[in-house]
Amino acid sequence: MVYFDHAATSFPKPRAVVDEMTKCMRFYCGNAGRGSHALAMAAAEKIYQCRTECADFFGSSHPENVIFTLNTTMALNTVIKGLLRPGDHVLISDMEHNAVLRPIVRLAQEGLIEYDIFSTMIHDGGRSDVRICARLARLLKRNTRMVICNHASNICSVVQPIKALGTFCRKRGILFVVDAAQSAGHLPIDMEEMQIDALCAPGHKGLLGPQGCGFFILREGILPSPLIEGGSGLHSLDTQMPQDPPERYEAGTLATPAIAGLLEGIREVGRLGIERLHEQECVKFRALRQRLLRIPSVTVYAPDYEGSVLLFNKKGMPPDEMGRALDRLGFCVRAGYHCSALGHKTLGTLSDGDGVRVSFGPYNTLQQLDALADAVEGIHP
Ligand code: PMP
Repeated sequence: MVYFDHAATSFPKPRAVVDEMTKCMRFYCGNAGRGSHALAMAAAEKIYQCRTECADFFGSSHPENVIFTLNTTMALNTVIKGLLRPGDHVLISDMEHNAVLRPIVRLAQEGLIEYDIFSTMIHDGGRSDVRICARLARLLKRNTRMVICNHASNICSVVQPIKALGTFCRKRGILFVVDAAQSAGHLPIDMEEMQIDALCAPGHKGLLGPQGCGFFILREGILPSPLIEGGSGLHSLDTQMPQDPPERYEAGTLATPAIAGLLEGIREVGRLGIERLHEQECVKFRALRQRLLRIPSVTVYAPDYEGSVLLFNKKGMPPDEMGRALDRLGFCVRAGYHCSALGHKTLGTLSDGDGVRVSFGPYNTLQQLDALADAVEGIHP
């Protein structure tokens, strides 16, 4: 099988990730924070090492503000529900994933908050950071408390102007939350420079770690209320969660093997070099786009935005059918709707039954992309 579904989760994982997880489970998988014996301490040390390198990687100088979760969705839910207060107004981009849209819609339906959607102008030739911020400015209300935006989309390769949006929000005292599900490990992110208050990311996609790990990183002083409560190994006689991160948010046993694997994934991305990785993604995108656009019945959506995600359709062929046909030929792609009703609406793909998403990772080759294009060409309704 050739794997082109890295936007869902990266595969295969680097050897170093697998080896470290095995080592963890064989030699040091005590329960961090539960007891002071050697194996609990060894697990705690590994987790702290991952916090430190993760903070470094994303431009935060506070390892304790890196909080591990199961995935991006849990990170976003914790940040959104923990920071918003009754009466707040929120602005979200028109490219958000359901991991943002659904918690926001629920809070709005419960009458707790109100929200509006700002345009990221993906079809506008005059798109610019300044004009996107101007759109945002027009929607501000007296009670606007938070802006949420994904950095890179999961249905095409558009990237949002995070630094400009961060500066805009900071100047106005608005919380800026970034969904980095598709950009962590793909694009450079510096929380301080980009003025991000909370960064939510997966460990299992671009950072090449295993499933079962995600995280959020808080700017110093930003303290959502916890989403879940329970034992954290600290202050066990208190009836409340500890006040400080990370224990404030990490109730229950952590996924130590997954976090140990994530640390190796981050190191691997560091070795490969994030700028170089992105350049290679763009080379792959251009190669595939060129091949697909030569097939007369193929549409590539948002073709000018280059990166690791390419969405296409072949005329007369429902995306699901194309996905199944490619699967039979040995290619893993994702077809249909991609948990982003808002994004599909913005991109204009809803009426086509959405599309076939090809998302590549660092180990995919141009030859594999060529073979995929040959397969698409040869599949007929
Ligand atoms: N946001 C975006 C933009 C995504 O692409 C995804 C994953 N498809 C998520 C959030 C949710 O990520 P996770 O599966 O790690 O919860």
